[in-house]
Amino acid sequence: MTANEVKQALVFNNGVFPEGTPKEKIVEEQMKFHREVLSKKIDEPKGMKLVHKQDGDTNYELANATLLSLVRNSELDGIVSSIRQLEETWNWRYNYPFTFINDEEFTPEFKKRVEEVCSGKVYYEIIPKSIWEKPANIDPDLYKNGIAKLTANKVNYASLESYHNMCRFNSGWFYRLEGLKKFKYYWRVEPNVDFFCKVDYDVFKFMRDNELTYGFTVSLYDEPLTIETLWKTTVDFCLAHPEYVHPNGAFKWLTENQQNPQNTKGAGGYSTCHFWSNFEIADMDFYRGEAYSKWFDALEAAGGFYYERWGDAPVHSVGIGLFEDKSKVWWFRDIGYHHSPYENSPHSDKCSTDHEPGYFAPPDVYDQNCLPNWIKYSMTSNQLNMY
Ligand code: GDP
Ligand code: MN
Repeated sequence: MTANEVKQALVFNNGVFPEGTPKEKIVEEQMKFHREVLSKKIDEPKGMKLVHKQDGDTNYELANATLLSLVRNSELDGIVSSIRQLEETWNWRYNYPFTFINDEEFTPEFKKRVEEVCSGKVYYEIIPKSIWEKPANIDPDLYKNGIAKLTANKVNYASLESYHNMCRFNSGWFYRLEGLKKFKYYWRVEPNVDFFCKVDYDVFKFMRDNELTYGFTVSLYDEPLTIETLWKTTVDFCLAHPEYVHPNGAFKWLTENQQNPQNTKGAGGYSTCHFWSNFEIADMDFYRGEAYSKWFDALEAAGGFYYERWGDAPVHSVGIGLFEDKSKVWWFRDIGYHHSPYENSPHSDKCSTDHEPGYFAPPDVYDQNCLPNWIKYSMTSNQLNMY
């Protein structure tokens, strides 16, 4: 695109709600829409390439992919619980490998217990300090002042340096680790999440064969204070390098300003809508590519992983939303997923949960749901009918 086209694309216009519609009304309509979409009974995606491994097939060739978890030794019970559910609903049939990443050595107890529940090969990868720790360009005073401001505003984890390290690592470093270079696709798994629907097809081959870049289950708004200057830094980059911006980017989803206008304002024009990255299935070659890499260098130079608390979820989402074709992003409607307090709850015979189909979260956080915007602004009706 040209710089002028980028400028125009990044200004929101023509929202779906008439100007002046009260927030409660917008949230109510959005949740109604959410439940309507999810009340449709579904099974597997239709009209897409699907590969099913047959029982007893001993020559099945896996896609180039790994399950992936950055996790602490202290989270052993939580990660074992997540793995058990992912194995029972899907991986028992495929036995994809699992890569565990940590900034410290894993204990023998950790290794023993995860190896008991993983059906595929297990790899461990320790993050070099030079990658994990705060980089040299971070100014100590700016960092201190930034943290003080976030803490005064009661932003979670603001003063926890390891959380900043984790966000930066997950944003732009994990796919460069020695042990991950050999893989193309990953499925990120966190401790204490739930998978509650059976999936029979090969999810990684689904990504590969349908040429998808990024898959998600839940989409949310973010705390604007944590990303006050992410969007400005990004727009400056895009105006300097408009050739990286994809003409079919998810511009409206990124710039929406009706449901939580104070977020869009606080983040300088970015809705704060993102894919919730504790679940993600994606192609690391996208991050390794020129557009994302150059942009990430600009983010590192700006220092917002420490001066603010830029999260890997908004960073991945803004990167995908600007530099990739939005038709290469897939909402995995069929994967039942819960990370407290949010979930993706499909209507399918393959699911077992006490929640009704379309359950999202407790009512006090309904306004945090951005999935309706993704569906309205980024999916075609054709895509919506593929389940
Ligand atoms: P939240 O979901 O934003 O509340 O953050 P979590 O505490 O769940 O952290 C996100 C992911 O990063 C989880 O998989 C954690 O296990 C992992 N994580 C967070 N901090 C650290 C850390 O200091 N070391 C390691 N090894 N993993 C971490
Ligand atoms: Mn978490």
